[in-house]
Amino acid sequence: MGEWSEYFEDFPEENPANWVNGKFDPQQAQHVRSMEAKLIEQHRATNFEVNKLRAKAKLDFIKHKQQSLMLVEDCPQCGLKELNTYKLNENHYLCECQDCGIYGEGRSHEDALSNTASVIGDGLDWRDENIS
Ligand SMILES: [Zn+2]
Repeated sequence: MGEWSEYFEDFPEENPANWVNGKFDPQQAQHVRSMEAKLIEQHRATNFEVNKLRAKAKLDFIKHKQQSLMLVEDCPQCGLKELNTYKLNENHYLCECQDCGIYGEGRSHEDALSNTASVIGDGLDWRDENIS
């Protein structure tokens, strides 16, 4: 590597990093590289902000869910009295078994329960949900 950089110091026009769109222009090439570095840094900062917002949204949802617990009943899959039903709003109900993980949503409690029962054996687990 050291040999190449010495060589390119003596023959800058041989260095592919000094060419922009087929034109030898070390200053423009340097400018392009610094713009690329700036874009990469902006992208990284944006990803960081997006991940922060996602984490906050997830926390807010968990908090809202905890406050929306409507009832606990027998799970249609494992039979244990571990099926939490949350009334998230007037027409959004969510069932989640705290034991086996099966879940379902619906516009009413009956709807959510029926949707939960319809996926018995599918291996669904609400705790596997990936928000990355
Ligand atoms: Zn269960």
